[in-house]
Amino acid sequence: MKSRIEEILAYNKEFVLNEAYKTLITSGIPEKKIVILSCMDTRLTELLPKALNIKNGDAKLIKNAGATIMHPFGSIVRSIIVAVYEFGVEDVLIIGHYGCGMCHLDGKALLDKAIERGIEVSTLEMLKYSGIDIDKWLEGFESPEDAIHESVNQLRNHPLMPKDVRIHGMLMHPETGALDVVVLS
Ligand SMILES: [Zn+2]
Repeated sequence: MKSRIEEILAYNKEFVLNEAYKTLITSGIPEKKIVILSCMDTRLTELLPKALNIKNGDAKLIKNAGATIMHPFGSIVRSIIVAVYEFGVEDVLIIGHYGCGMCHLDGKALLDKAIERGIEVSTLEMLKYSGIDIDKWLEGFESPEDAIHESVNQLRNHPLMPKDVRIHGMLMHPETGALDVVVLS
């Protein structure tokens, strides 16, 4: 039986052979001059671009767990800054969603699962003694609205963010794709 990865590779060969990519060819410059940070939730994979009419070539898409900005100089903000200065992005959309797995995620419970999967307790202790608060690092947020506000504020106040870039925050219904505006620039 083929593994999932073998299936993907076989499909990919067919995809290229059949020239299925031809309708998707575009440039690396986002046509709509926007960058979207959204959650990695699988319900949004197709729904989010369809519900926003985002086609190949329209926008820069960044995803992580919870659509949250954890660090002002982490990889998410780095990507957004690159999108602004190198790719002409004028609007940043942070789109969280209702029913997010990161809402009320319990860092401690996750670490219990890590131990069940073979991570040594001593490894976790060593991280703690090294000053890494892994519970807090893994912890989710209490309210999706607050999390969006926090990420929007972080970006608006970022020392490298030009003032003419508009930062917006929204929440999506993961079944219908309907957007609720949390904060508009
Ligand atoms: Zn989510």
